Amino acid sequence: MAIKGGYFFRILDADLTSGKAGVESFDEDFARCHVGGRGFGIRLVWDNLRKQEKLDPFGPENIVVIAPGPLSGTFMPSSGKNSFISISPATGLFGDSSMGGGFGVELRQAGYDAVVLRGSAPELSILVIDGDDCLVIPTPELKGKSCLQTEGMVRERLGDQTVRVAAIGVGGENRVVFATVNADWSRNAGRTGIGAILGSKNIKAIAVRGGKDLPVHDLDRVVRQAEEGYAALAAHPYFLFWQQQGLMSVIDYANATGFLPTHNFRDGHFDGADSINGYLMEQRYKIGDSACFACPMACGNICLVKEGKYAGTVTEGPEYETAAMLGSNVGVSDFSAVLRANQLCDELGIDTISTGNLIGVVIEAYESGAISLADLDGTPIHWGDAGQVLSLVEKIGRREGIGDTLAGGSRSVMERWPGLSPIISQVKGLEQSAYDCRGAISMALAYGTSDIGAHHTRAWTVAKELEMGKEWPLEKKVDLVIEHQTIRPLFDMLGVCRLPWIELGFDVNFYARQYSAVTGEEVGLEELCKRSGRLYDVTRRINCRLGASRKDDYPPDRCFDMPVRTGPQAGKKLDRAEYERALDIYYERRGWDSDGVPAGDTGA
Ligand code: SF4
Repeated sequence: MAIKGGYFFRILDADLTSGKAGVESFDEDFARCHVGGRGFGIRLVWDNLRKQEKLDPFGPENIVVIAPGPLSGTFMPSSGKNSFISISPATGLFGDSSMGGGFGVELRQAGYDAVVLRGSAPELSILVIDGDDCLVIPTPELKGKSCLQTEGMVRERLGDQTVRVAAIGVGGENRVVFATVNADWSRNAGRTGIGAILGSKNIKAIAVRGGKDLPVHDLDRVVRQAEEGYAALAAHPYFLFWQQQGLMSVIDYANATGFLPTHNFRDGHFDGADSINGYLMEQRYKIGDSACFACPMACGNICLVKEGKYAGTVTEGPEYETAAMLGSNVGVSDFSAVLRANQLCDELGIDTISTGNLIGVVIEAYESGAISLADLDGTPIHWGDAGQVLSLVEKIGRREGIGDTLAGGSRSVMERWPGLSPIISQVKGLEQSAYDCRGAISMALAYGTSDIGAHHTRAWTVAKELEMGKEWPLEKKVDLVIEHQTIRPLFDMLGVCRLPWIELGFDVNFYARQYSAVTGEEVGLEELCKRSGRLYDVTRRINCRLGASRKDDYPPDRCFDMPVRTGPQAGKKLDRAEYERALDIYYERRGWDSDGVPAGDTGA
């Protein structure tokens, strides 16, 4: 069926080395097959990789693809998502991260379905995309500036306060392998180190000015369906609570079920959880909401610290992952310190999950005597020591002292201190996000088989496994992981946020209906999932080509060797033989061989 809307059929290809840019077109088959957003990025990264003999994530041969999706900016609820896709410096494998806000919408309005950045600018620069014009402008004055300062300075320089800006901080300039890209004050592409790749390309920021109408096939239907979507969300009994707390509400759930990472994932329960949860935030710190483009859920919590040591701290957030990793995981129960750590990470442009994870490792290593005071640059650190946590955050972003090792991520820490490997919670080199998995083998499999490493956005299966109970067959758990890994990436391909579906049970078929209204291609969810499933195979091919295999598909060692110490999951650890069985079933279901290699060799 013909595609009649949804795409400009234009990909901006910017060679940063020469400063020249051109526009590539694509056909309907390409659009159909890859949908958009992350799907386009997967294909473009795969095509680039196949041309390279070797690929260094920080080399000019690596590309970064920036891609919203065909639904981005269409005024349907929560349609402001945009993906960054590349080969990650943290893992050396496929990497991507999505960002909300309005940056991706502006990119669409500039007339592009994706932007490819290749090469490397000769000096620190910004990339300005202004409709059909694309310029690389040297900006040495931005060196050392925070993400937020950069946003403001770029607008000043361009004389336009409405231009959308995505920027990196000092962390990206210093190639911290978990550096972020930040836009709209504090919306981040947080994981897999895309900010570090931009830093390696000498791109401090990307500024975009749009202005074009989006191509939409059936506008009346799009608007009607969008209105139905807004009404359904507003009618949900959890809607107002969600606006009040957003993802911060998960702290209580994770603590009550025993999945809250605490003291470097040794405990699953934190006694100080009431001091870092959503209610505490609401009562003492929250001063406003913020939302991504066209999102009534407005899950961003703007917080202000009014008194005490960190008075004056203003930040959007934290959300659950940040509060857990820079709170319970490092033993900090002072929420004002968590807010300051959140703000510092946003300023430096580094990922809160990896940062809190690695600081937890350092504290455990120091307390057990595995690293010395000299390793810590002469300053001790203990659980709950907020001042030292903040100091380490700063050192990571600036690559000072021990921060230089931590800035290289898990792989760099293990290289310097091989004895720490058993206490580092990572998969493929990406630090585990804020859900323990020893009480839910499906979650362990989700982390183990995730294409980007130990991140929860590909599959989050904790609640379902708990609900189904102990007797739930292993095959069903594996099927659930694959189901999540198929449907969840679809949101990043379409360019919409998955939280309405996850948190408020929003009808997932809505997205297929809206895709049909926008593109004119009448397809159901099943067909879109098939496309997503095929693309998951392509990311696996990318990873296999870069050296990944079965050996890389395991959850952290700690999950097998150390039972959870406290909380409802106390005593739980994973059984290796059962995990091997789960992995065998997983490969078989996917049609991959016993080493995890997909059959055949074509792309999408
Ligand atoms: Fe953004 Fe939150 Fe809305 Fe998702 S739910 S689009 S993250 S404001």
